[in-house]
Amino acid sequence: MDAPNHNALGLYFSIPFCRAKCTYCNFASGVYPASEHDRYVARLIRDLTAVPAWAQTMQVHLPRQVDTIYFGGGTPVLLAPHLFTELFAAIRSHFQLTPDAEITIECAPGQLPDDTLDAMVAAGVNRVSLGVQSFVDHEATLSGRYHTRDIVLEDLRRLRAAGIPNLNIDLLAGLADQTFASWRESLAVLCETGVPHASVYMLEIDEDSRLGRELLDGGTRYSAGLVPNDDTIAQMYEEAVTSLTASGLQQYEISNFAHSGMESRHNLRYWQRRPYLGLGLDASSMLHAADQTVLRATTSDDLSEFLTTAETAHETSWLAPTQQLEEAWFLGLRRNAGVHIRDLITEFGPDAVAPSIAVAHRLAVDGLLSTAKNIVRLTDRGRLISNDVFAEFLGLAPAHHAAQSR
Ligand code: SF4
Repeated sequence: MDAPNHNALGLYFSIPFCRAKCTYCNFASGVYPASEHDRYVARLIRDLTAVPAWAQTMQVHLPRQVDTIYFGGGTPVLLAPHLFTELFAAIRSHFQLTPDAEITIECAPGQLPDDTLDAMVAAGVNRVSLGVQSFVDHEATLSGRYHTRDIVLEDLRRLRAAGIPNLNIDLLAGLADQTFASWRESLAVLCETGVPHASVYMLEIDEDSRLGRELLDGGTRYSAGLVPNDDTIAQMYEEAVTSLTASGLQQYEISNFAHSGMESRHNLRYWQRRPYLGLGLDASSMLHAADQTVLRATTSDDLSEFLTTAETAHETSWLAPTQQLEEAWFLGLRRNAGVHIRDLITEFGPDAVAPSIAVAHRLAVDGLLSTAKNIVRLTDRGRLISNDVFAEFLGLAPAHHAAQSR
């Protein structure tokens, strides 16, 4: 992989429209009429135009050069082809795309019309992420998905024929009626497809999805009674690491696996703390200010509020260097490449880093981290309880250095 360019920007576009709501989904997405799509894209284009003035007001650096773009959601491919064309024209008029920019779009299998695919390719999309979740048709149906295994395989064929070999498949461990055997089947089919990238997630049980709420309430709707238990889900994850690795998809982050050189450059920027600008509903940005602070900004997750306010509002927070150090730990540890102590000392200074190094050594004794050659990495056991490990790196700074606002 080439060294990351810290002077280029990543753009994220949230497209919150779906054909139906999946039972497990906890994203800010929903089913809306196509007329809303037009209004939404018009709003995105207006926001793109307004962004330089907003960055100036916030006194943050907004690189003009863009080296990754990611359309997530939602189901971005539901947008009509002309909307992609208009959006890309606006992007190109406000930003300068590097010749090798990685441009990814998320796609729900079976929901990619030919004219949309043509418009995407013409616009420069060169990577597609397919939300498959399961190759077992019955599990996909129970989750509210419309696709079958054959539909996914046909989409892969069409995408490759259209000149997009850079493909990702998402799988989800913890679906209703999923068994260890059916999970292995999904993994085997994924490996057979030969895609160069895979993402494996474990079901999140929270109030934000229908299935999550049902599980928390102890109910049985959405086949909640058929969801595998936590231990089985953890074993499924471990099985994924083993079988994907054996097929040449090397793990490079807790949930991500790729052939060498095919890692998602856009997602890497989040863990490498490189700048990004999020546009649309419930979108996050991270931009650097001249005074060493970092701005984190998030937009509303309410579509009607987003569409009707005169200017897009941002919830903002400023990270002082001590908080950036915490992020350097818990974002860096997500990657198998780990956190290099030397890099932290260079960026934050030895005194600031010392308390967290002591924590890393303590967690290494507990078998949750390794510290060989001054590179700190999660062990296999640490990866299974990574959130607990990350929490150990929070709040180490003296109180007067912590949260700052401007
Ligand atoms: S999981 Fe994806 S396709 Fe399903 S409702 Fe959520 S955003 Fe839409």
